[in-house]
Amino acid sequence: MTEETIFSKIIRREIPADIVYEDESVVAFKDIHPKAPQHILIIPRKIIPTANEATENDEKMLGHLITIAAQIAKQNGFADDGYRLMINCNKHGGQEVYHLHLHLLGGKPIGPMVCG
Ligand code: 5GP
Repeated sequence: MTEETIFSKIIRREIPADIVYEDESVVAFKDIHPKAPQHILIIPRKIIPTANEATENDEKMLGHLITIAAQIAKQNGFADDGYRLMINCNKHGGQEVYHLHLHLLGGKPIGPMVCG
């Protein structure tokens, strides 16, 4: 489960995506099927299939995903109103793309956490 996904093609710009931020360790782009007015995915350049494969060596980069999400929310004017950050893991978590990613959802009240 360490093979490339569609997200590697987005990182290499082999397929189009609305990239809103990138640096040496992470890339952020708009979700193709937004679940909120603002729905951005922040992903590591390194392929980590799920949160289960994250290691101690990844901790700095994983923290960076959060600070970049907050930066994007501030730059787009929805940080003060608030947003949700979410990482899905494996089948029960509803993960579809096996390249770890942080969802940034905002632009309206996101509502309560829903299970089931
Ligand atoms: P997951 O369910 O794995 O946490 O979320 C995967 C997300 O990736 C979904 O919200 C889905 O809409 C988004 N996604 C899947 N394929 C593409 C794509 O080719 N381009 C973009 N921009 N988003 C994608």
